Amino acid sequence: MTTDLPMIPAAKPLIGQEERDAVDRVLASGMVAQGPEVAAFEEEFSAALVAGRECVAVNSGTSGQHLGMLALGLGPGDEVIVPSFTFAATANSVAVSGATPVFVDVDPETFTLDPAAVEAAITERTVGIQPVHLYGHPAPMDELLRIADAHGLWIFEDAAQAHGAAWQGAPVGSFGRGAMFSLYPTKNMTSGEGGMVATDGPELARQVRLLRNQGMEKQYANEVAGFNNRMTDIHAAIGRVQLGKLPAWTARRQELAAHFDAHLEGVVTPVVREGAVHVYHQYTVRIEGASAAERDAFATALREEHAVGCGVYYPTPVHRLDTFRVDLDLPVTEMLAREVLSIPVHPSVSDEDRDRIVAAVNAVAKAGA
Ligand SMILES: *Cc1c(COP(=O)(O)O)cnc(C)c1O
Repeated sequence: MTTDLPMIPAAKPLIGQEERDAVDRVLASGMVAQGPEVAAFEEEFSAALVAGRECVAVNSGTSGQHLGMLALGLGPGDEVIVPSFTFAATANSVAVSGATPVFVDVDPETFTLDPAAVEAAITERTVGIQPVHLYGHPAPMDELLRIADAHGLWIFEDAAQAHGAAWQGAPVGSFGRGAMFSLYPTKNMTSGEGGMVATDGPELARQVRLLRNQGMEKQYANEVAGFNNRMTDIHAAIGRVQLGKLPAWTARRQELAAHFDAHLEGVVTPVVREGAVHVYHQYTVRIEGASAAERDAFATALREEHAVGCGVYYPTPVHRLDTFRVDLDLPVTEMLAREVLSIPVHPSVSDEDRDRIVAAVNAVAKAGA
């Protein structure tokens, strides 16, 4: 069975006339590399999303995470605790800094780091923890900070998917020594490509700024070996417009999620912990008890029979990728990698699309039950 209905895409960046006008303005100025737009974007992002913490814009979330690790002094011999149930960039940022990612399991309900597993993984080489606010649900930052403080560790938040999320009244990105937000097109807001590092103060911010720009604060007075990971004013101009649109988009994501919570049947819907503001980068359900093949068949049925786009984030736990190949038993991570499926929750999902998505998921779940 196939359908003639138009495909509802799994993700869709929203680029409007305002973004085009902003890019035009920068192009017309003739100054297109890092300049005043980047500086303004950093200040506006700081005020809007991380309670005034000093922000540094870079050319991708991955760059931000890497520079964050280096700015915190990470190097060979060090261990950093990371979830395995995430995008590989989290662990990559540790590995490319010469250190070792130590993979631990996650909470089965929120898909974020399990504090008890974190505590159990600490060794004398551990220097830090990278929690991921996966799918837009905040990690349990109070418990993680308590563990970090007790053991003298830093925390660097992977907030790539969580612009505007909060935990117990404070925004993600304002808890650790630092944090990274991604501005990739499929994320909750975009600058084309880009990333933002939020820091706990001028010292760390200065280190990230140095590393972003060849180790220079003053031109040709290089202080450390650095990179060119600068954001352009073209990208920053797009990001500034998107930042203004983010609150309405987040509200739409939350509205769609509330509707799914109330109407989906036969799948496990996502949990929101008390004290959490979830921004639904993804709306991720579990096909409880499914094998990976059964979950994949569910996804194929949604796409081919109902024209509902969907995605599996992530089918292979990071510790089992060829990059790392660590022999570990992470049962929750393995279960989630088999069972998760994300359905469209982006702000261009219309009410009509929403109703089609609900009907499709419920029909496929019923057929498979
Ligand atoms: C997208 C993402 C990144 C990397 O961000 P880029 O901007 O794509 O480099 C890192 N961690 C997580 C969890 C992500 O989703």
